[in-house]
Formats: sequence, structure tokens, C-alpha cells
Amino acid sequence: MSADWLTRFRRDRNLLPASARRAAGAEPVLKILHGYRAAEQLPPAELARRQADQLVTLARHCLIWSPHFAARMKAAGLSPEDLAEPGALASLAPLTRRELVEAGESFFCRISPKAHGKVTTTSTSGSTGEPVTVRRTAYCQLHWLACTLREHLWHDRDFSGRLAVMRANITEAETSPSWGPPCSQVAETGPVSTMPPSTPIGDLVRWLLEFDPHYLLALPSSLAGIVAQLEDDGRQLPSLQGVRTISETVTPQLREDVQRVLGKGIDDIYTSQECGVMATQCPEEGTYHVSETIIMDVVDEDGHPCGPGEVGRILVTDLNNTATPMVRYEIGDYAEVGDPCPCGRGLPSIRRFLGRERNLVLMPDGSRHWPLVGFHRWAGVFPVRQFQFVQLDRETILARMSAAGVPTAGQEAELTAILRESLGHPFEIRYEWHREPLARGPGGKFEEFLCEAR
Ligand SMILES: [Zn+2]
Repeated sequence: MSADWLTRFRRDRNLLPASARRAAGAEPVLKILHGYRAAEQLPPAELARRQADQLVTLARHCLIWSPHFAARMKAAGLSPEDLAEPGALASLAPLTRRELVEAGESFFCRISPKAHGKVTTTSTSGSTGEPVTVRRTAYCQLHWLACTLREHLWHDRDFSGRLAVMRANITEAETSPSWGPPCSQVAETGPVSTMPPSTPIGDLVRWLLEFDPHYLLALPSSLAGIVAQLEDDGRQLPSLQGVRTISETVTPQLREDVQRVLGKGIDDIYTSQECGVMATQCPEEGTYHVSETIIMDVVDEDGHPCGPGEVGRILVTDLNNTATPMVRYEIGDYAEVGDPCPCGRGLPSIRRFLGRERNLVLMPDGSRHWPLVGFHRWAGVFPVRQFQFVQLDRETILARMSAAGVPTAGQEAELTAILRESLGHPFEIRYEWHREPLARGPGGKFEEFLCEAR
């Protein structure tokens, strides 16, 4: 296959010759990517029609091979062909994590098409600590790689640069000469250095200063600590060209901090072990574009679709997974629907991802919103290294703070005043001061705000 369209992105990207790309197994990924590039320019209605066709095909397969899916369709009074109609999918009840777990073996498809390749099992605890096991095909994995590669190309990254990676599944510090697939399948890449996100922030900062990366891939919580430390020390990452985040919610505060300290915006990728790359940020507008392989419904409390500017629960349909029917799967996150993107890509837009319901503050009137805490104003009162808020009930918040010392009663009162103003309600704030870093949750994730109130 010709890769002329690859070279259009950047002349000095060190693209491998066609024979080397073939030898590296790039062809299937490039074929999918080629399809994406043709499809992403289509009008939204045409994209939706193609997705509906794929959905009908998927539903026909899953109806035969997954007893649980067949029961869901029957309960909704739907046939696979009905799903070709716009909006028909909405009559299928959402699939919760619990339902998926409890359905056991009846949930999975007993057979998936030979062309979709080997079926593998992936487990995720998510941030809820409630493990979910999903089976995915080799074909799903190819799409994961293609989406990843497209995200690199959209953001015009130079693969010859040094890449520093801190991902939740990394357990050891390692340096390797290549970024690995999919980039190494299409180009000569620079080296990659990895660190577990559980590494103390001071050590992460030393490592980064020494490695001097061109690109950084990190969990937002690690990035927040790194940026605060670099700012405190008055240090820079002089070669840095781009910052990517995955796995956790990126707050507006973090975007602002990274821009101020590192001089770069964040390119966030919305992924999950269950459904792969679900959305990536537009290189021109910053809005998130939902992948072609995904139908992302955002619904309100009553299950009605949200319009632009509205926040609701995310229901994900993975159009490629023929081993596990991930159809209207309630992944547990909230999102704000975006306006059509002026960049010309017809892919649906999400303005921002807000994380899980348990990461939103619950107001006394029962509404939920993103917990702004006024972090940038704390520095003038008392230096806090790391924080985690636990909302105990509708009036009380526990503030777990990590700092070098303990504030005076007056400083604490000032922090409380900032918190109350930022959160928009005079909550009772109870403090817990720690000298050690705060512990991470399952899978190395860290949640800055946890709502235990009902
Ligand atoms: Zn766009």
C-alpha cells in the first residue's frame, strides 16, 4: 500500500521504506488508518449511517452467540435490523458493570469471526476497584494501534524524539531504543524511557531532567505533581515538544498549570481496557473527537440524549468487538457534549470528560458538578504538595493534604474560605495533614476528589 499520505504529515519523520514497514507488520494497521482518514472527512450523517450498518452486522452476530445480548434485545423488542434506524439503539437498556460481571459466561460470544483473529482476555479494575473482565479480538487491538497512530499524526509528532512514559501498567524503570508499536512499525523512532507512576515525584522530576524528553506521556495525577515540583524548583524541560495524558480525568486546572510551567497544551486520550481508544483531541480545536469504532451516547438522568453543552453519563458501544457485546455499556464516566467541530472532521465532538460520578461534588440540592478547589490560590496561604478530598455527606468534606509542615489555625481558616468559595457552598472542611505522599488507588490511579455522599 502506498504511504504517500503518511509523508504529507512531516518530511523528517524517518519513515521506514515500504519493505521495512511490511516486515514490521504495519500493513494491517495502515490499512485501517487509511480507512479512518477517508471516513473522518465525511459528513456526520454519512458517518452515522455507516456506523448503523456496522451495528446491525455486530448485533446479528451477538444475537446468535451471546445469550445475554439476545435477552437484552428481546427485552427491548428489537431485531438487529431495527438498529439501522437513527435513535433505535436508545431503546436498548444500558449495560452496567455489575450486570456485565453477574452475567458471567452467558455474556460473551461463544464464537467470533475467524477474520477477527485471536481472542484475548483483559481485566480492568477501573478506578472503582470493581474488576471487569472483557474479551477482545486481535482486530480490536489493530484498531487500538491505528487510533494511536492517527493521534500521533494528527498532532504531527516527530518520532525521532525521546519519549518519557509513566503509565499505570508500568512496574519498572526501563529504557529501550524504540517507542514500540505502532510508531516503530512505520518509522525509525527515538528512545523511550519508562517509570512506574508510583515513583516519588522528586525521583520522577530528576529522571525527566536527566532524560530531557521531547514527549511526555503521563497520568494526569503524576503530571500535576511533576509540574508543581518543576515550578517550585524553577526548572524546565528544555526539549519538550508535547504532553499526552491517559487513564484519568484532566482538569482545567491541570491544563492551565502545564501550559504555564511547560509551555505546552495537553493532548488527552480517552481510553479504556474494555473499549480501546474512544476519543482523541482535535489538533486544531482541542475538542475530543469520538473514534469511528465507537458510538458514544451521552444521556441525562432520565436516559435522554444530551445536547451540546449538557453533561451526562457516557454509554459506549464498541462496533468492533465480536467477542464481547459492549453495546450501550455504562463505563461510569461523565462527559459534556460538544458542538460540531469547525476543523472539518465529521466525527462527533465531546467538549470534555468529567470523570466518574464519584469524582464530582454533590451539592446539598442533589446536583453534581466538577469540584473546583481553587488550588492556584492556596500557594499564597500555605504550600500543599498533594491533596485528596473525600466528600463524606452533603455538608462535609475531608481534606487530606500532604505538605512539608502543618499550617496554623489561621492559615487553615484561609484555605477553608478559598475552598468554600471555589466549591460554591459553605461546606464543613475537616483536615488531615500528612508529610508522606498520599496513597494511590487500585491500578496506580489517583483521585483528587472522591464523593462518598448520597
Ligand atoms: Zn476537530
